[in-house]
Amino acid sequence: MLKDSVYSVVGNKCPQCHQSDVFKSNAVFNLKTFDKMNESCSCCGMKYEKEPGYFYGAMYVSYALVVGWFVLTFIIDSFIVKSQTWQYLTFFVSTIIVMMPLTFRTSRLIWLNLFVKYDPSKTIYHHSIKQ
Ligand SMILES: [Zn+2]
Repeated sequence: MLKDSVYSVVGNKCPQCHQSDVFKSNAVFNLKTFDKMNESCSCCGMKYEKEPGYFYGAMYVSYALVVGWFVLTFIIDSFIVKSQTWQYLTFFVSTIIVMMPLTFRTSRLIWLNLFVKYDPSKTIYHHSIKQ
């Protein structure tokens, strides 16, 4: 279900059991740790990187997110803000750079959720882990 995937992506939770974190730190904009992932879920045992290079596919998701951001901001700029081209481009490029850690994590979480469905029965330690 879409809401299960949204929960996992937004909350940085294992797509299969929703218990453990996928990325080690929840500090999205800490440049030293934002990309560090746990190897597998400590709760259901799911291995996040199924095979070497598994997350290359997340680059397509990342690209789609950036294109979506471009379309959204371009429409808003064209019809409402009406800034000059260089102003818009400066805004667009700087938001892409600043949001890079968030885009990176979100695209990997979306990529995981494309292939793994939420299954509470896979949880080994039901209710024993409190967040
Ligand atoms: Zn899990």
